[in-house]
Amino acid sequence: AVSFFWFRRDLRLEDNIGFYHALKSKFPVIPLFIFDEAILDSLPEDDARVGFIHETLSKINAELKLTGSSLLVKKGKTQQVWQQLIEEFDIKEVFFNKDYEPYARERDESICQLLEAHQCITFSFKDQVIFEENEITKADGLPYTVYTPYKNKWLEKFHQEKPIREYSTSGLVSNLYTSNFSFPSLEQIGFVESPVKVKPYTLDTLDNYQETRDFPAVDATSYLSPHLRFGTVSVRKMVNFAVKTNAVFLSELIWREFFMQILYHFPKVVTQNFKSAYDGIQWRNNEEDFQRWCTGTTGYPMVDAGMRQLNETGYMHNRVRMVVASFLCKHLMIQWQWGEAYFAQKLLDYDLSANVGNWQWAAGTGCDAAPYFRVFNPDIQLKKFDEKGIYIRKWIPEFDLGYGKPMVEHAFARDRAIATYKAGIIK
Ligand code: FAD
Repeated sequence: AVSFFWFRRDLRLEDNIGFYHALKSKFPVIPLFIFDEAILDSLPEDDARVGFIHETLSKINAELKLTGSSLLVKKGKTQQVWQQLIEEFDIKEVFFNKDYEPYARERDESICQLLEAHQCITFSFKDQVIFEENEITKADGLPYTVYTPYKNKWLEKFHQEKPIREYSTSGLVSNLYTSNFSFPSLEQIGFVESPVKVKPYTLDTLDNYQETRDFPAVDATSYLSPHLRFGTVSVRKMVNFAVKTNAVFLSELIWREFFMQILYHFPKVVTQNFKSAYDGIQWRNNEEDFQRWCTGTTGYPMVDAGMRQLNETGYMHNRVRMVVASFLCKHLMIQWQWGEAYFAQKLLDYDLSANVGNWQWAAGTGCDAAPYFRVFNPDIQLKKFDEKGIYIRKWIPEFDLGYGKPMVEHAFARDRAIATYKAGIIK
């Protein structure tokens, strides 16, 4: 008889709540990862995120091997993989950490049904966030849709409950199942190496985070986002660090949880406007304009530098993400879903809740969004946040040779956006 721990977006052995509880169970534990074909089939073969997952799993496997165990890696449709595992092993218990995305919730529900039909008990845990589901709600029990009161309640609850404990697993590894499963190469999974790589995160550059985080030429942010996305760090460790050191950094981690609970309570935001009053806006959705935006050839240096950084590295600085998103929705009048989908293809830190939340924020259609009449001027943003042009020159080497004309004039685009929004908003 065995237990399973199913890794998904929690790719670490230390301070992993589900793994911790699995190791405390009565049966030897088989750690498992499934490359889910339902997700992989839509990705290009050099997808950098698959490469990162594979590399991370390989490190986990090496660590497990030191204890006489190993990681079981499967590829297929999750339902079929579990069906085979049920036939192959006498599975008594399955442990996993919760994932709040609509697809994952549906998948997990059907897998739990399958397992329970075979007398196997399933246990799921909160690991990805400090507070989940209905833990932070308004006095009337409804979810918050405005960030600041959400944050205040979050902080109040955090300070009541702290210290948030971390879950050390190092003393428990003797409960791993002895095994020597073969570890597949990236090619065996159907992928190849990408030149784009996830950077390690850093907490050393955050001393002046509140002053420097908006300047894309300064390396002043943590680069934590892909690590939080795939769980190569524990959010509890990061929050405990932020509480001690930097309130502004902490408030960014709370934005992450804010958008996660919005997605949990309002799954329609994946495709639809949070505010349906914006459903009547007449988007231009011009394909050629969209291509210029994607390729970073709009003639606005701040927008173009951002898009080129994204295309080359899978990352874009937050300030620049706000500028390019506003530009797409307001200057080009292209609906946010197009931009969201492009970011989803390219971002190493792509996370459905944060991506949709921030895109809807930029478009003005989201909860607690930027007002529709606030149209960023990309040139003023450049003057404010990259005055010496260090960031733009890094991504646009031809900049000093004379840069192209903007594809649309700012004052014209701004007036057009405000008029179109005004006419489209359902009162
Ligand atoms: P830091 O400034 O060091 O922030 C620390 C952490 O706080 C981040 O890693 C992230 O987990 C969280 N965080 C910071 N800002 C936000 C925010 N606005 N919303 C939610 N969480 C935040 N972030 C993603 O993780 N995935 C996405 O798909 C994503 N898409 C975005 C799309 C748009 C249009 C915009 C404007 C922002 C998006 N962000 C997204 C938020 C933000 O840009 C990134 O989290 C941040 O740039 C990552 O760099 P960092 O880790 O160095 O950030």
